[in-house]
Order: sequence, then structure tokens, then C-alpha cells
Amino acid sequence: MKTYLLPEYLVERDQNRCIRCKVCVNQCTYDTHYYDAEDDVICSRDENCVNCQRCVTFCPTHAITIRKNPNANTENANWTLGAIRDVKKQAETGGVILTGMGCDKPYFTYWDRLLLNASQVTNPSIDPLREPMEIRTYLGAKPDQLEMELENGSVALKTELTPQLCLDTPIMFSAMSYGAISLNVHEALARAAAESGTYFNTGEGGLDKSLYKYGSHAIVQVASGRFGVHPTYLDVGAAVEIKIGQGAKPGIGGHLPGEKVTADVARTRMIPTGTDALSPAPQHDIYSIEDLRQLIYALKEATDYTKPISVKIAAVHNSAAIASGMVRAGGDIIALDGVRGATGAAPKVIRDNVGIPIELAIAQVDQRLREEGIRNQASIVAAGGIRSSADIVKAIALGADAVYIATATLVAIGCTVCQKCYTGKCPWGIATSDPWISKRVNPDIATERLVNLLRGWSLEIKDMMGGMGMNAIESLRGNRLALRGVGLTKTELKILGVKMAGD
Ligand code: SF4
Ligand code: SF4
Repeated sequence: MKTYLLPEYLVERDQNRCIRCKVCVNQCTYDTHYYDAEDDVICSRDENCVNCQRCVTFCPTHAITIRKNPNANTENANWTLGAIRDVKKQAETGGVILTGMGCDKPYFTYWDRLLLNASQVTNPSIDPLREPMEIRTYLGAKPDQLEMELENGSVALKTELTPQLCLDTPIMFSAMSYGAISLNVHEALARAAAESGTYFNTGEGGLDKSLYKYGSHAIVQVASGRFGVHPTYLDVGAAVEIKIGQGAKPGIGGHLPGEKVTADVARTRMIPTGTDALSPAPQHDIYSIEDLRQLIYALKEATDYTKPISVKIAAVHNSAAIASGMVRAGGDIIALDGVRGATGAAPKVIRDNVGIPIELAIAQVDQRLREEGIRNQASIVAAGGIRSSADIVKAIALGADAVYIATATLVAIGCTVCQKCYTGKCPWGIATSDPWISKRVNPDIATERLVNLLRGWSLEIKDMMGGMGMNAIESLRGNRLALRGVGLTKTELKILGVKMAGD
């Protein structure tokens, strides 16, 4: 069938600058560029270009420019280009449209409508360069009260604390599974987490044995497919996370196509090479909070009550009630993933239309747990749409204990958010299990970039705290007085629990 889809992008090459080095030809995993030996010229197939910017970045003479194709643009305010292209695609294929990364709809982002306070005159700010600032964060259930006793003349803690994760900065790397991303990226995340005093999350694909040495900085995930879950895997991690849902595709399962299940991925996932790795939409042993409790306690038993158990859900309409049940079921950490949460592959219609913004979910859940007097029984980790240190500070002020970041980590190591992760041909060597393309990520360099990102954001968090006159992150947690809203309705302000700017 003839396609009516015009190329989305046009590749322009300045032939005066081009030295025919063929870097672009070799770098493009979509065969956009080719060398025409007859005319000794480099040419392009515009229809293959996904605007990943790999060639633009690596062209030694900066000869390439990628532009949006003005001819593909017949959109209006109602029939956007995206809507028109999707209809044409489905008329040609009869299939579900897949996509990668997070929701890209122009819903506004609440982070951008929340502003932070700063100290002036009466409550002096603190200079983080000269004074100690505490951003260390402990995740896990906290006791209702602490009992102390005198021991050899000094005060000692009598209450036995349940297992905690200790974070030097309130930022963790969110779940990304081996297979969806390359082993080199998994290694970089593990090493950066270890170097930065925080944690990475294996995602649902298990943990390759070569990374067991970073187990003390790993949150090992147990999802509906149970890929790679075995006693040693549970033992090696610092915490276990039950994945019920994720922000990019609430209510539906996962699918790693057989082409991405290489021999190494298959060994780690404990499935045959080349088979589709299908995670069912529900956990087939969980149909109630009581069932969830059974799994939580099965995992606690399996790990001898030495590790906190996290439960991750997508942020949806009744997250607060669900979270309350999760805490009562024994979850030590509640991970909430908002509508902007990313993925390697999801139906576009689900990614863009299901779920709620993480900002509202944090506020709802924190408030509900406080009202029920059980906020201390679990920590809240927020994910899905964290783009900067300011977003983190706002998330903590809304009630989160820490955040998970994922897209930001991939952007730090080269990702240009082209949203083509589901093809398995990520030109940046990230969302791929192809052994050849994976080599594009050097774990040493990627680790350094991730450590730098965490360091920069941590310094900025301290700067913002100091500006508000706070020297400990506890003072910020759930402190909604530190926030003011702009351009929000009364209902939105009420849900967020913040006042209007100027009030
Ligand atoms: S990378 Fe740049 S200089 Fe090299 S062939 Fe391509 S366009 Fe020409
Ligand atoms: S991970 Fe790769 S394929 Fe996915 S959005 Fe980033 S650059 Fe594109």
C-alpha cells in the first residue's frame, strides 16, 4: 500500500562543509544517510530520519541540519499533525501505535505553576557553602515513637528500627530493565548509584550477574512476569520492589519483543532466547490488598526481614486510597509514578491518556497518610516527570521523601528523547540490546556524567534549601508552606494543599 505519510523531518547537508567522512552513514541506525559512490556524495533518505540528532552531534564539520518538514504540516488547532499522522498510520497498518519515553501532550506541568519561598530579613537564609546542609534521606517504615535508654552513661536507642535505605541525596535511579536498556547503561547506573551513595532499580528484567557487586545499591524489582527473580537475586539487592504499575502504561502489561531478547538478556530473565517477554497486566496472585500483603510478607520472609519492601503503582484517580492500603499491607516504601513517566515501549493511546500528574498524586497520598496517622509507616518516592533539582525540591515540599529519575538519567548520557526506544535501534546505544549499538555507551563516561548530574542537582537542592532558611531536608518534607501556586484554580490549590502566590 502506498504510504500517504510524508517524511516528518528533512535532512539538510551543507555540501561545502561535508568532507565525505561517512560518520553520519555509520552513526545512523535507521539507514538515513548513504554514500553514493558514483557521484562521490553523501545523500539522505528523509523518510527514515527520526531526529535523534546523533549525526548532527557527531558530524565533524557541523554540516548537517535536521528540520521539521513544512510540507508534512497541514495541521490546525484541532487536527494536529500528530493526530493526522496517527490516523494515516493506522489506516495503513491496522495496528496499535507504539511509542517510547513519556507522555508528550501539552498538558501543563504543575511543577511550572509552583514557586518556592525564600527567606528575607526575619528568617535568615543559610549559606550552604559555609554551613553544613543535611540532605541524607532514610527510606523505610519509621516507628511511632523512639525509646532511649542510658547505656554506660550515654543515651542509646532502645527501639529496634526496621530496615532502611540510606540515601546521601534524595534522588534514586528509577526502574529500567536490562533488555529495554543495554547492559552498559545498567552498569553505568549501578556504578553511579554506588559512587553517589544512592540506589538504582533493576526494573523487571533481573540483574546480570556481572552487576551483583553493586547489589548493595540495587533495588531489585519483582513484576508480574517474575523475570529473573530467584533467591540470590532477592538476597543481593538492598531492597525489593513489587511493581504493580508504571506511569507510562497504567493498567496494562509489558512486552519486550523477541528481537531484543538476546542470549545474555534471556539468561538474566530466565527465558528462552528470542522469545517475547510478556508481563501480564495484573500480578496474577494479587486481586486484593490482602493478596498484596501476602506477597509483601512472602518477600520479607524470603529476605529474612532484612530489606525494606517497596510497592510501585502508577498514579491514578484513587491513588490515595490505594496507597493507604499498601501501607496497611506492610509496604515500607510507596513508589508513585505519574502520567509523564517514561517507558521503553507502550501503546501511544495509553501513554498519553491514562493516569494523573505526579504532583497531584504526591499531595493526595501524603495528605491521606497523614490524616490516617500512618505517614510514618512508609516513605513516599515520586517518579514520572522530574526534570530538574527544582522539581525535586517541589516534590519533597509536596510530601515525597525522595524521587526516582529515569528520563533525566538517559538524557544525561546522550538520549535526545526521540521516543523511538521501542524500535530497539536507539542510535545513542541506550534503549537497545544490540551488542554492536550498545558499545556506543562507554560505561566509564556514562558513570561520570551520571555522578556529575547527581552532584549538580544535590548542590542546587542545598542552595534552594539554604535560600529558604532550611539546613535539613526534614524541614522541607511535606512543608507546603514553602510553595505558592500561580495560575491554578481553587480546586487545584486545594488538592495540592498550597496557597496562591501573594496569599
Ligand atoms: S558526518 Fe558530516 S562531514 Fe561526515 S559525511 Fe556526514 S555530513 Fe559529511
Ligand atoms: S533512549 Fe534512545 S531511542 Fe529512546 S528516546 Fe532516547 S535517544 Fe531516542
